[in-house]
Amino acid sequence: MDLGLKGKVAVVTGGSVGIGLGVARAFAREGADVLIAARDGARAEESARTLGGEFPVRVVAQACDVATAEGCAALIDAARREFGGCDVLVNNAGTGSNETILEAADDKWQAYWDLHVMAAVRLARGLAPLIAQRGGGAILNNASICATQPLWYEPIYNTTKAALVMLSKCMATEFIPMNVRVNTVSPGLILTPDWVKTARQLSEPTGGDWQGYLQGVADEHAAIKRFGTVEELADFMVFLCSPRAAYAVGGNYFYDGGMLRTI
Ligand code: NDP
Repeated sequence: MDLGLKGKVAVVTGGSVGIGLGVARAFAREGADVLIAARDGARAEESARTLGGEFPVRVVAQACDVATAEGCAALIDAARREFGGCDVLVNNAGTGSNETILEAADDKWQAYWDLHVMAAVRLARGLAPLIAQRGGGAILNNASICATQPLWYEPIYNTTKAALVMLSKCMATEFIPMNVRVNTVSPGLILTPDWVKTARQLSEPTGGDWQGYLQGVADEHAAIKRFGTVEELADFMVFLCSPRAAYAVGGNYFYDGGMLRTI
């Protein structure tokens, strides 16, 4: 299926590794130019170089912290400077947490709010008008199944990702008259290098069977009894951003191997 993304420009936050890198690669495979953002500029440059070598498209890296107003401004400027705007924004940068509500200080809540919510607000404020100027496009916010079905050990993650889902819904209604479609994806367990690193660390004291550890996590949580791959999720996300998903507006799409236990 031709997704109609050839010649388009996609901005992907957190595009240097994991899900974001997979999404950037899937856009590049479709013939779209990509602007990837991450704090670690060297890693982002390396990923951009790799993708640029794999596909005949332009891939540019911008080092920035999207949890800050300055970082978002730098990314918006880069989109304007390098590509004259963009057609797609994927707000993907994010990270898990680990705390109790009784012990977590205010600044920890603020940091996750800035990363999971304010980055999406600030980038949409800057980029949605540019998307509209080019005739319209899409914004996809990467939340998590935890926005709906929380994991007990990460209340700040659960709460800020739930806020992102609501923000996404509000954006969808506000932006659709500009022909900018906004949706959310809520992934379940997706096997990234970070999951592998965590599994190696946690299984080390008991013999190092990290694959067994991951299988245990999948058995406990996902009906399908395996992790999803980055490639599987990336294909789904890129489809949602494409003109082939033209009637998808304001949705929250679970991609979780049956992890969600409600209807
Ligand atoms: P990774 O930790 O593998 O990658 C995170 C990416 O985001 C990196 O490129 C990182 O680069 C970048 N990043 C993090 N903080 C910032 C920041 N402040 N400014 C700019 N870039 C930043 O994460 P995943 O690929 O696992 O997750 C991606 C998204 O998917 C997250 O939002 C996560 O919550 C969500 N998700 C993941 C699931 C999973 O199972 N993996 C399941 C459900 C949702 P750098 O460190 O250089 O800034």
